[in-house]
Amino acid sequence: MFTNNFSDIEEKFNIQFIAIESLEQTEELSKAYLGKKGVLTALMETLKSLPQDEKQAFGKSINILKSKINAKLLQKKTALEEKELLSKLLQESSDPTLPSAPLIAPGSHPINQVLTEVCEIFTALGFSIAEGPEIETDENNFGALNIPEHHPARDMHDTFYITNPNSTGNLLRTHTSPVQVRVMRSQNPPIRIIAPGKVYRHEAVDATHSSVFHQVEGLVVDEGISFADLKGTLDIFARNFFGEKIKTRFRPSYFPFVEPGAEVDITCTVCANTKTYCPVCKGTGWIEMLGAGMVHPNVFKAVGYLDPKLTGFAFGMGIERICMIRYGISDMRLFYENNVDFLKQF
Ligand SMILES: [Zn+2]
Repeated sequence: MFTNNFSDIEEKFNIQFIAIESLEQTEELSKAYLGKKGVLTALMETLKSLPQDEKQAFGKSINILKSKINAKLLQKKTALEEKELLSKLLQESSDPTLPSAPLIAPGSHPINQVLTEVCEIFTALGFSIAEGPEIETDENNFGALNIPEHHPARDMHDTFYITNPNSTGNLLRTHTSPVQVRVMRSQNPPIRIIAPGKVYRHEAVDATHSSVFHQVEGLVVDEGISFADLKGTLDIFARNFFGEKIKTRFRPSYFPFVEPGAEVDITCTVCANTKTYCPVCKGTGWIEMLGAGMVHPNVFKAVGYLDPKLTGFAFGMGIERICMIRYGISDMRLFYENNVDFLKQF
């Protein structure tokens, strides 16, 4: 007797279901059939008055119909929610048929730009570019440069050592000076080279230190090369790189591979024309630019340059450092973070 009743209800529901166009209508239909005062709830009430033998079959039929209606409504609800979200997205975002935003034109990294410029200044002065491997031997990185084992100067170069027995060297070079050693061992004077490249030191990374950075070193060897040649060369470099008004000064310093050795400062690029306290040069008016000196006789001895008439000078600068000085950058880590907003300024 109730079978027809159930199919009538289902048929009526299906007709109303097909007409649904919104989430509100779905909700209304759900209430009408499954809600407290819904059709199926009312039907469930009549269960009590049925004879015992019919109760079970009747209850089962209600539950089947309930599940069918519930599943259909849920499916409709999900579909309508997706549709609504999509139309909302299309309204909010730009027209997907429009051409995409222009790509940022790829440019050279500031470190590469400065490296290239430094090389250009020195090649214009007659230097040639020499390169060497980043994995070096202890002898090329320290020994030939007058830094024997157990020499305290090695502490200045916290070194990454390599234990692979198949490696061509046993450490990552701590400076590009091994390139100078390689050139002197393979060529006779006169020598006039610069050695640009990456160097490695076991350092904690902070605003002014990195475990990988870039250097350009220079070496000149010939008869009669003097400290005046070194001063003149670096003076020309500083004026070319930092500006015509820049002055240099040399302060005595110690590096094992030169004698005498010097730290070279340039006049502060930030406070040149002000009398107020300058945090860059700490009010001194000078900024440290690089280290330099006359090639130590022990280095000449190590590479087999035995002619006593030979003299030479060498210098080495950190590319990150001079890039920071020139552009007023206070944190070295900016160079390695690949932040496009930072990089596109150069
Ligand atoms: Zn200053």
